[in-house]
Amino acid sequence: MTARPISDARLTILGTGTSSGVPAIGCECRVCTSGDPRDRRSRTAGALQFIDAGGQSRCILLDCGPDHREQALRAKLTRADEILVTHAHVDHVWGLDETRRYNVMQHGPIRLTTDAPTLQSLRTIYAHILGGDPGPNGDDSWVAEIETRDVRPDEPFNCFGLRVTAVELLHGRMSVLGFRIDAPEGTGGELFPLAWCTDVSEISAAAAEALAGVRTLVLDALRDRPHPTHFTIAQAVEAAGRLGAGRTILVHLAHDLTHEELLARLPEGISPGFDGQVLN
Ligand SMILES: [Zn+2]
Ligand SMILES: [Zn+2]
Ligand SMILES: [Zn+2]
Repeated sequence: MTARPISDARLTILGTGTSSGVPAIGCECRVCTSGDPRDRRSRTAGALQFIDAGGQSRCILLDCGPDHREQALRAKLTRADEILVTHAHVDHVWGLDETRRYNVMQHGPIRLTTDAPTLQSLRTIYAHILGGDPGPNGDDSWVAEIETRDVRPDEPFNCFGLRVTAVELLHGRMSVLGFRIDAPEGTGGELFPLAWCTDVSEISAAAAEALAGVRTLVLDALRDRPHPTHFTIAQAVEAAGRLGAGRTILVHLAHDLTHEELLARLPEGISPGFDGQVLN
């Protein structure tokens, strides 16, 4: 890939919550009833915006969960050129219907990139978009227009001038993708290399090698109590140190700790994310 300059890159952390969201429905715990807006955690997702070499603004969505509409309104998103999907769990993909608004605004389809097993699950969930079954109303239905490409771990691909590498991570017994995103050398500021690693309970030696040296790491850290499919906060801190990340933002947070409590006890360079946070 020839190096192309990109500019004005920024990552908006659209959501930082675990699958139930925080507040969780019906929960009256001190985190769910906190008055700190940073303790309102919608489902984990991100938006990477930048200007490409041709001067066109671009937006790459990192997952697209059930809170996407509210997240997009808050971040004032006006386009989506690419959706990178980590895995087909509800909290990461049940916002795909909402992307039809971007089709209207940008007069064209959106590309969705993930691995083959995830695509297969998405074709079942989204038969009306990806499965060739628009339903009895056929073309009268307004559905998203999405083009798919499947990628394999460790085979870098181009995303409007960015070099993206899918990295295989373990989410319990399930294999999911993390994404490492590199800007062409000399461009992109402090953000890159950037890694998006939500929903992970183990990073293999091979994955750690692929992620080594990232400057910005967005990483799963559910809570203190062990969980079979997510890193605890201690495990996330250990992994961030092992990868040598410059700064680490913790996401997929449950309702066990407030933002303030978590911030106060994390080592330098690691902080809890919050909805609407912008990194550049
Ligand atoms: Zn999740
Ligand atoms: Zn709660
Ligand atoms: Zn998951």
